[in-house]
Amino acid sequence: MKDLLVMKFGGTSVGSAARMKVAGELTAEQARRRPTLIVVSAMAKITDLLLDAMKHAEAGNRAGLDEALQTLRHRHLDACRDLLPPDRQEAAAAEIQELIGDFERITGGMLMLGERPPRSVDEAVATGERLSALLVSEFLCGIGVPAAACNAWELVVTDSVFGNATPLMEPTRERCRAGLLPLLEKGMVPVVTGFNGATADGRPTTLGRGGSDFSASILAAALDASELWIWTDVDGILSADPRLVPNAAVLSEVTYNEAAELAYNGAKVLHPRTLAPLASRGIPVWSKNSFAPEKPGTRIVPAISAKNGARAVTSTSKVALVSLEPARDTLLATHLMGRAMEALARANVEVLLLSSSSFRQSFTVLVRSEELARALESLEATLALELAHGYLAPIQVDEDVGLLAIVGEGMRGSLGVAGRIFTAISKAQVNIIAIAQGSSELTIAVVVRKDGLERAVRAVHEECRLGAPGG
Ligand code: ADP
Ligand code: ASP
Ligand code: MG
Repeated sequence: MKDLLVMKFGGTSVGSAARMKVAGELTAEQARRRPTLIVVSAMAKITDLLLDAMKHAEAGNRAGLDEALQTLRHRHLDACRDLLPPDRQEAAAAEIQELIGDFERITGGMLMLGERPPRSVDEAVATGERLSALLVSEFLCGIGVPAAACNAWELVVTDSVFGNATPLMEPTRERCRAGLLPLLEKGMVPVVTGFNGATADGRPTTLGRGGSDFSASILAAALDASELWIWTDVDGILSADPRLVPNAAVLSEVTYNEAAELAYNGAKVLHPRTLAPLASRGIPVWSKNSFAPEKPGTRIVPAISAKNGARAVTSTSKVALVSLEPARDTLLATHLMGRAMEALARANVEVLLLSSSSFRQSFTVLVRSEELARALESLEATLALELAHGYLAPIQVDEDVGLLAIVGEGMRGSLGVAGRIFTAISKAQVNIIAIAQGSSELTIAVVVRKDGLERAVRAVHEECRLGAPGG
């Protein structure tokens, strides 16, 4: 379809009736000019609420579950009342009750069994997105923009890694074309749930926390959209997280590679996997602020004229270092590393950084905290014999660490950046534990003690003058 615009609204951009109204109006403005499809997140904090409700159910805590259900009802029924014209409220409220009823049925099962099967979690947690898709599409219809709420589990086909599924692009493309093009051709706005999908045989899945950005890029790629706009609560992609660095500046343009490196290394503004489906098709992406839509935002493009030096710094404290060390030098480290990597891959664990020492034959990998238990389980199973016979020292875990990454295409081959970064971090009196310069030369990643992480981010931002004009 020619000139198709895909827009995604994040949790804060649909966090209340007032915010949904703005999102709806921004959609209407575009839909009057060109075919438009939108992807919506759950209202802010609703996904956390749903996950907590399921934890209460598993733990047999009926009171906790009931309280969560009540909050869920209130937030959505209040939004329904404040958002929709009176003649649409009754039917919408009934649909809200029905969706929450489905959620209640699933959590009721969890309460009874004392279990939270991943597949049921994925089915139930998508309720948040289904509720906001319903409300936003009703609002659009109410202001005369024909719209239809669409559940992405009928559109996005994924593998069966519940909680962190990967789309299968060919079948997804087929389903999106069959399900969405007819609506778009009729001049309607499909309002698609972010975050969720389903396996080819219909089992519900989700794409990982923050996955609605990824949903939007999957749909944009599947429908060959001409642009993707991601509406959030900051002015675009900044030189650092504005919550940590108040003088962080908006970057007017970044490359796909820079944006992907930032996202992978913790910049919450984009889900790490968002750019992959778009880069090969060259679909431009904008990151924009729904609280200040007049501002230009950040444009994410294939290439920009190279500027020297670093452009942004990002960090995450939700990581852990896992170290393996052969206890005897009879064990070839390369062989061990290969098996360890295979074990991590089998458990779907992503290695954020790898650092090794040839003398002691030891090596260390950095993984996300949420994947640590899986990583250890798989490493211990794969290396059980070596561990049992003392060829390998017990696996060491250090959770008191944080990852900081400095990103910029212009750092390629530019002398002195690394030196400035390390000087800044040590001047801030933060100990460096591990360092890696990605083979892309786009990123320098540094692992530091957790309590020094924020200080280090600010020091690097200042030393590299990242917020400075022209950055
Ligand atoms: P949404 O709900 O719209 O998906 P998120 O909360 O997931 O929004 O992401 C937006 C948040 O990302 C911002 O509020 C900001 O605090 C954070 N963030 C972290 N790093 C950056 C960065 N480099 N640039 C912009 N925002 C960032
Ligand atoms: N609602 C989901 C989450 O909070 C997905 C998203 O907002 O992108 O993780
Ligand atoms: Mg997000």
